[in-house]
Amino acid sequence: MNACCAQPLDAIAAGQHHEESCCLVTEKTPAPAKAACPASGTLSRKIQRRTLEHLLKPEKLGSLRRVQYYYCKEPTCNVVYFSNENVPFFTTDDVAVKVFVKDQGDDVPVCYCFNWTRARIKQEIRETKKSTAAMEIAREIKAGNCACDIKNPKGECCLGEVNTFVKDAASAATA
Ligand SMILES: [Zn+2]
Repeated sequence: MNACCAQPLDAIAAGQHHEESCCLVTEKTPAPAKAACPASGTLSRKIQRRTLEHLLKPEKLGSLRRVQYYYCKEPTCNVVYFSNENVPFFTTDDVAVKVFVKDQGDDVPVCYCFNWTRARIKQEIRETKKSTAAMEIAREIKAGNCACDIKNPKGECCLGEVNTFVKDAASAATA
């Protein structure tokens, strides 16, 4: 078992899940660490190829090239994956799942591995005044069941977004 999964559950749930030493296996490539999105100019981090292989719509896989791709996290930009080499980029229409930061719908997952949608978290908060999402996700991480690198469009752990969303949803519910 690796370093991060040895962390206590509540630490993982609180977002102290150090992916760099755990599940986030960044491919070592000579490409620059960051690149600017061709549409929004947003400085974007590298994304692993296998994330695209799993999340692009099947008919788009033919456009996937052997280059370094980057993930644009800009909410208002419809480009999801791009390369700074001269190859086609991929938009929200090319990705098989809805991208959390770029789609405000209630049916959009915050956690893609265990299907915690905005609606599911809001409903739990309405019914019980709290959310078990982060702890449930932490439990699954500890059990080795998460696959953020291929299920989450950003290719990383969702717990940061989950905790932020739970906080916002809880304060909206009491407002
Ligand atoms: Zn962009």
